[in-house]
Amino acid sequence: MLNYSEVLIAGGGFAGLECARALAAAGISVTVLERKKAAGVGMHTTGIIVGECAEEFSVPEHITRKVRDVRLFAPNLKYIDLQAADYFFLTTDTPALMRYFSDEAEKAGATILYDTPYENAVEKNGNIEVNNGAFSCKFLIGADGPRSKVADHFNLGQNTKFLLGAEAEYEGLNLPQNSFYCFLDQTLAYGYLGWVIPSVGVTQVGLACRMPKKPDIDAFTANMKNVIDFSGAKVVARRGGLIPVGGLVSPFARGNVILLGDSAGIVSPLTAGGIHTALHYGKILGETIAKYMHGNSVHPANVMAKIYPRFYLKQGMRVAYENLAPNFLLNAILTNPPFKKLASDVFFKRKTLL
Ligand SMILES: Cc1cc2nc3c(=O)[nH]c(=O)nc-3n(C[C@H](O)[C@H](O)[C@H](O)COP(=O)(O)OP(=O)(O)OC[C@H]3O[C@@H](n4cnc5c(N)ncnc54)[C@H](O)[C@@H]3O)c2cc1C
Repeated sequence: MLNYSEVLIAGGGFAGLECARALAAAGISVTVLERKKAAGVGMHTTGIIVGECAEEFSVPEHITRKVRDVRLFAPNLKYIDLQAADYFFLTTDTPALMRYFSDEAEKAGATILYDTPYENAVEKNGNIEVNNGAFSCKFLIGADGPRSKVADHFNLGQNTKFLLGAEAEYEGLNLPQNSFYCFLDQTLAYGYLGWVIPSVGVTQVGLACRMPKKPDIDAFTANMKNVIDFSGAKVVARRGGLIPVGGLVSPFARGNVILLGDSAGIVSPLTAGGIHTALHYGKILGETIAKYMHGNSVHPANVMAKIYPRFYLKQGMRVAYENLAPNFLLNAILTNPPFKKLASDVFFKRKTLL
């Protein structure tokens, strides 16, 4: 006997869980297949969110920490301090954040099957059969991360441009002023940056590079020791992963199969932030499918085609940064007022998701 749900979601990350919550809240039967053994294990993300995200999803305060100040370093380790009185970032206890979204989805009535990978799917008799017929559904959502199997199986667009991130989590490392330290360095962190940021109970030290270059966390840490005191600090966890930065994949849907989150490529190509977009569009996709199942005539893929972000401006800024900002130039312009203004806008302008 097939296990039937109206919607089946491959991947129980931020996108899949929030989509499942919205569907279940609207009375749609939904099952999430997640290959990890439990919510919050094996996290790959730094977990920084913006204030708007915490507000939109009522993220519990006790699993977050506010960070207001940014210290931006040039490759020669000279720095400027950036502040915005009315803006802040939140670092998070990321496993706890993931458990929060998992609990919210389950409370709304979604079924989440951990330790259950999505393996394959075929269309059959108007439904989609998944994992050799073990599951069946009307809609299949690919929320299975940057290298989506769902995209592959249904001949959908796939991410081709990536940053590769690597991070070490430290105990006993305290930053002066509790700031978010960002390091521009096209040798160590080509096309992106390095960071040291206080989180909930720990400090995260990481960097990302535009692939095919690879991040060397040890070389980065060695350089950081020129400006941060690492004595007494110890690494308690390491993580890393791919961040798609090529923008929305095309096509992102075929029939009743729709991609979401990193699978769809909806990550900011400039800031590499994807948690808020994953949650925000996860919620909208869930609500839109529910309306369709309840009789609205507009297909969810057509709704999402109108609202999924394309990031054209941010794509342009990314390409310009990668190609036109060698280290000597970054050293020279760091303290220029126009550069300072641009950096402030990138960090502090209220994030439009677009
Ligand atoms: C090093 C690093 C640091 C980052 N830092 C930030 C940050 O600070 N702030 C921010 O906003 N964004 C950050 N990002 C990006 C952010 O993590 C992602 O954009 C976000 O997690 C996207 O959510 P998602 O649900 O689409 O994908 P994911 O979080 O990748 O979730 C996909 C889920 O699908 C599961 N899965 C995959 N394949 C299968 C399968 N076959 N069957 C079942 N399950 C499967 C995975 O186990 C995973 O749980 C970072 C990314 C990296 C790699």
